[in-house]
Amino acid sequence: MASYSQAVLDQIRSAVDIVDLVGRYVRLRKAGQGWKGLCPFHAEKTPSFTVNPRKGIFHCFGCGVGGDAFGFVMRQDRLSFPEAVRQLARGAGIALPEERGGGDGGRREELLRVMALAARFYEEQLWRPVGARARAYLETRGVDPEVARRFGLGLAPEGWDTLLGVMKQEGVAEDAVVAAGLAIARDNRPGAYDRFRNRLLFTIRDLQGRPVAFGGRAFGDDEPKYLNSPETPLYTKGNLLYAADLAREAIQARNRALLVEGYVDCLMAHQHGFGETVAALGTAFTPAQLGLLRRYCDVAVLFFDADAAGRKAAERAEELLEPSGGGLAWAVNRAGALEGSGALRLRVALLPAGHDPDTFLRAEGAPAFEERIAAARSLLGYALDRAIADPGGATGPRARAGAFARAALMLAKVGDAEEAAALSREAAAKLGVDATQLWIEAQKLQASLRRPPASARPATPTSTPPPVERDLVHLLLHAEDARAALLPLLVEGEDLGHPPLRAIVAALRARPGAPAESLMTDLETEEARGVLAALLVEERPDLDVRVSIEQFQRRLERSLRLRRARGLSRGIAEAQAAGAGASVAEALRGLHQESAAVYGITGGTAQSLEHRTGESTRSGDA
Ligand SMILES: [Zn+2]
Repeated sequence: MASYSQAVLDQIRSAVDIVDLVGRYVRLRKAGQGWKGLCPFHAEKTPSFTVNPRKGIFHCFGCGVGGDAFGFVMRQDRLSFPEAVRQLARGAGIALPEERGGGDGGRREELLRVMALAARFYEEQLWRPVGARARAYLETRGVDPEVARRFGLGLAPEGWDTLLGVMKQEGVAEDAVVAAGLAIARDNRPGAYDRFRNRLLFTIRDLQGRPVAFGGRAFGDDEPKYLNSPETPLYTKGNLLYAADLAREAIQARNRALLVEGYVDCLMAHQHGFGETVAALGTAFTPAQLGLLRRYCDVAVLFFDADAAGRKAAERAEELLEPSGGGLAWAVNRAGALEGSGALRLRVALLPAGHDPDTFLRAEGAPAFEERIAAARSLLGYALDRAIADPGGATGPRARAGAFARAALMLAKVGDAEEAAALSREAAAKLGVDATQLWIEAQKLQASLRRPPASARPATPTSTPPPVERDLVHLLLHAEDARAALLPLLVEGEDLGHPPLRAIVAALRARPGAPAESLMTDLETEEARGVLAALLVEERPDLDVRVSIEQFQRRLERSLRLRRARGLSRGIAEAQAAGAGASVAEALRGLHQESAAVYGITGGTAQSLEHRTGESTRSGDA
């Protein structure tokens, strides 16, 4: 399957931190030498998914999937192998052969440089005399200069080509400034003009803290009030969260994220000590953004104004619960929301009518804000309220029965068992029914809703490899000495009955000096990659390599000779049937030699050769 050279693949493999890569989708916790988490490829409640950073592989003991960084990306993002290679190479800043000399990688680097230059230029302007008006505005909004600097706030001065002039001095071509979204090409004549003019700029940075886009706020009555960078090769709307680079550590440390809507809300929250705050760059949160948060925490808190809260929260919750229509939960928890685990829990903190986090913090201060967060209620609770309320406002037994059914249906869709249990208690109290009764109904419905989610298909059901074969391949993978001693004796088609093990040995034979983990890209089937990963993660500290090699040497030699003996027996039978005396005698001599060797090897007594032959057939022809 490898169409890229091993050297390139090894280079990418060593540049990719598999813990970081997998950690974007799975919450990993340190466990011994490796990391553990809930498998993203099958639904489970206790973690059996492991990542081994030293070997650069992952493996799930639950469903058997496994592989290296390429395999993970292929499975997770449903990519072909070349696509996975390109994606990882891009992420690691490695130029692939077809791209060297001005391909995508180079372009991206160039745009990052343009954005960095622009961000520095804009930031400098804010603190110069020309920035007086912008600084005065920040002061009226109560933004500390220190916070403004930390967030890299800037000012785009007036004029049509101020930035273009700066870029020219830096030797940046006009088309690169346009490609970075900082200038706009003129319609009818050559040339371009600055996109941001006379605006306060909020720098949007990626997780590594590199500027990739800007949000520009107008002063006074200029329209539009907010002007953002267009999508560029560096910036895709909905993929980033504002201040995620600054908030990441606090989010991890506090195991929660605060999600606000505006840039200033975000700045003010940080200024008041809520360093775990990020802002959506747009009105709605996207699955990609929630997926990003899920890498770092279990809980995300949204803020709604009390007037709008019920409606907004219920709408958001319904999106979450509707797997069709690209519901959020499916993206957040790709193992399938229905029985999923490890999903991000969304909670809603209510602010008084007319308030947003910025105005509330300035009016009431941090402790009051913390109280609101502490009192936050599950987003799904709002959906529950809506489910219970009768659409026609009816009361009475029939309306109650309808409410019960709707509540049960909603609860059936909640992936997080703990949250579902809490919600069913809440619903039961409101409906005046027994919580257990509601729970049982929801469980029944869940079973009928459950269907195999597309992305949660476990590895193709694998027959378990026979232990002896498994031990042999394990030894070959872990000890280079074993390869030299045993590969010449081993006949895959005869000694190994398990197809994935055969494929692994064939790959090893093709590149006997390769580190075992690098064989991953040589294997054609996902099943084989899963088996290889399983063997690679299995440490056997007590294994005596020397002794094991000798044992397998004897075993393989014996089966080799048994096969020869079997062939000779067949030849004798045929010769006897044909009445050819001379060749029978010769064949018998050969058979005796082979048998003697076999007995010598096994140390056994001469017993029925047929019986032993039968034993070897089992592993040979399965
Ligand atoms: Zn699994």
